[in-house]
Amino acid sequence: MHDTDALVIGAGPVGLFQVFQLGLLGLKVHVVDALPMPGGQCAALYPQKPIYDVPGVPVCTGEELAASLLQQIRPFSGPQHSHLHLGDLVESIRPLNAPLSGFEVSTQNGQTFRTQLIVVAAGAGAFVPKSMNIPGLDAPGHVHFHLPAPDALAPWAGQHLVVAGGGEEALETVAHLLQSTPEAQQPARISLMHRRDQFAVEPDLENTVRQWITSGRIGWIQGMPDHAEVEQGRLVALHVLGPDGTVRREPLDHLMIRQGLSPKLGPLTQWGLPLERKQIPVDMSTCQTATPGIYAVGDINTYPGKKRLLVCGFHEATMAAHAALAWLKPDEPQHLQYTTTSTVLKQRLGADLQ
Ligand SMILES: Cc1cc2nc3c(=O)[nH]c(=O)nc-3n(C[C@H](O)[C@H](O)[C@H](O)COP(=O)(O)OP(=O)(O)OC[C@H]3O[C@@H](n4cnc5c(N)ncnc54)[C@H](O)[C@@H]3O)c2cc1C
Repeated sequence: MHDTDALVIGAGPVGLFQVFQLGLLGLKVHVVDALPMPGGQCAALYPQKPIYDVPGVPVCTGEELAASLLQQIRPFSGPQHSHLHLGDLVESIRPLNAPLSGFEVSTQNGQTFRTQLIVVAAGAGAFVPKSMNIPGLDAPGHVHFHLPAPDALAPWAGQHLVVAGGGEEALETVAHLLQSTPEAQQPARISLMHRRDQFAVEPDLENTVRQWITSGRIGWIQGMPDHAEVEQGRLVALHVLGPDGTVRREPLDHLMIRQGLSPKLGPLTQWGLPLERKQIPVDMSTCQTATPGIYAVGDINTYPGKKRLLVCGFHEATMAAHAALAWLKPDEPQHLQYTTTSTVLKQRLGADLQ
């Protein structure tokens, strides 16, 4: 059980900035995201693409923006980002009965948070990887959807890894494994598997990967997986229907499915919050939802004139933080303070007091 002032649902760019804004106001915050990495759409959908419209940052990639936002919340993170709970899905929200106040929030991995307020920063929903709908694919530890964290051991080191997919996510993964992975973490062999001999990627990346296939640096499997062969919990082969109509047995040790992510509103529809075209209506001056104590910011909310842009989400996170503090502490006067001049804010940030 985590006891906290605020729980942010979603560690996308807006959720991360929400942590910063709440932390700056002196509130204790936890944040949960279904993805194994922070950054939401920026990190999951366009990590290498340039963004040009973040104020004061002429250009940065999605991945760089996520890294900067993560760095910005470091003062409020506790040891090793202990407030950041990744790879977990918020399932239910239950209002607490008097004399208690606030909410009890439960997650898929069995975590419980008791919190005074909630900020929903859920974007278009929880990102869930698109899987492969074939019989027998039941080999926990051998089927993967994401790269491991940089400091974690790769489960496929020294073994045969098949990467499935024909889009940027799959081909970038192959390139990353070959070019940016320390030798000890590399698979002994990598094969790329896709149903067609066509890739939906930039020509440069396609040419590079095709050269690796032609030179034998990586293997190439064309076809539709038909079923998986699992022995004592270990994935040992995929049976793949090739373009010539023959099913071939393709031995492997690990399978990485990189066929994209799809956002699922899922549990959010059960939280008792009214939805308008899959978005949560809010009061635009506070970002409060129909339930006092629950706020919604970023792509998930809607109000007249709403724009699904980073800069709008960052503004909403600021408005929500101030409104939430006023709601939480109605008897305390709220004074707007600047980070440049406020000793209190500088202390919270661990900044130089000069
Ligand atoms: C290709 C592309 C390019 C873009 N370029 C720009 C640009 O140049 N400029 C710009 O301003 N905007 C751009 N955008 C839009 C911008 O990325 C979004 O506005 C922004 O990501 C919204 O941030 P967010 O934090 O609200 O939501 P998201 O980034 O969607 O993050 C929401 C997070 O919440 C998590 N989540 C949801 N539900 C749950 C749950 N129940 N439990 C746990 N976790 C949950 C999700 O897994 C996700 O990580 C672009 C978008 C795309 C797709």
